[in-house]
Amino acid sequence: MKVGLIGLGAMGVGMARNVAKAELLTGVYNRTQSKSQELADELGVIAYPTPQVLAAEVDVVLLCVSADQDVLAVIDGISDTVRPGTIVVDMSTVSSATAQQASAKLAEKQVAFLDAPVSGGVEGAKNGTLAMMVGGDEQALAQARPVLAAMASRIVYMGPSGAGQATKAVNQIIGAGINQAVTEALAFAAAQQLPLDKVIDVISGGASGNWFLQHRGPTMTKGVFAPGFKLALHHKDLKICQRMAAQTGALSTIIDMTLNDYEQLMAQGYGDEDISALYRLKKLV
Ligand code: NAP
Repeated sequence: MKVGLIGLGAMGVGMARNVAKAELLTGVYNRTQSKSQELADELGVIAYPTPQVLAAEVDVVLLCVSADQDVLAVIDGISDTVRPGTIVVDMSTVSSATAQQASAKLAEKQVAFLDAPVSGGVEGAKNGTLAMMVGGDEQALAQARPVLAAMASRIVYMGPSGAGQATKAVNQIIGAGINQAVTEALAFAAAQQLPLDKVIDVISGGASGNWFLQHRGPTMTKGVFAPGFKLALHHKDLKICQRMAAQTGALSTIIDMTLNDYEQLMAQGYGDEDISALYRLKKLV
């Protein structure tokens, strides 16, 4: 089985390394080609010149780009060259509607499309321990599973096309709530003049312990917000959540509050920082 990966950003690089480690990666493509050439040289795989050439030559196309319009642009681009029977797996975070649109477009070419967004951050991508939530054809998932297992330690089939992305929206709302809670609580700890490393250490061992506190607490409290998960990307995800909530009448308190906060930070030029930059708005000056 030949596998190609499109999109070598913060997530894609780790994913590609793990698929290569499993000896399943044939080649990569990245819009900024210096990145694909460098990684292809490191991994001993092909640096494809275009997504079209990659799609024409592999059995499984893995995709991890930024936003809805990027996924649709890549799908449009490859739809003339992708061969019937190919499986396209999109691991970007986009809307369920985009997943369904991509799926319908590729179905015309007898190509299966899985929406397979992930959670676990750049660390999860690097370590091959992502959680992957999958929508689309279950048979196609069974075929692609050995490839996906190189990147994810938990792969759960959620239902028809779009169900993976809807599940990811749930994850992003929880992430927003945790970000609000951890940044505000650590700013409170700082105001109490507590030793912050000890606060993070002891609380991580109890009922309020969580991944974000453990991994981002030590850096945010030192004023370090290296990405990570870019704040502007979480903003993009929460806009998707806000639209989905409005469609069903679901509550969106945490979504709305976090979007407002992120918009303030983005206006100040912090959109490329990690989402823990929310600490900037919480700490006393
Ligand atoms: P990133 O570092 O900003 O990388 C984005 C990648 O997409 C780059 O390789 C970029 O190419 C490529 N790209 C963007 N638009 C494109 C287009 N129109 N055509 C072709 N390539 C395009 O983002 P990331 O953090 O890897 O995230 C990628 C996706 O995973 C996003 O949907 C994000 O929401 C999701 N995600 C991220 C995390 C995280 O912690 N970072 C966790 C879970 C899910 P260039 O190099 O040319 O810019």
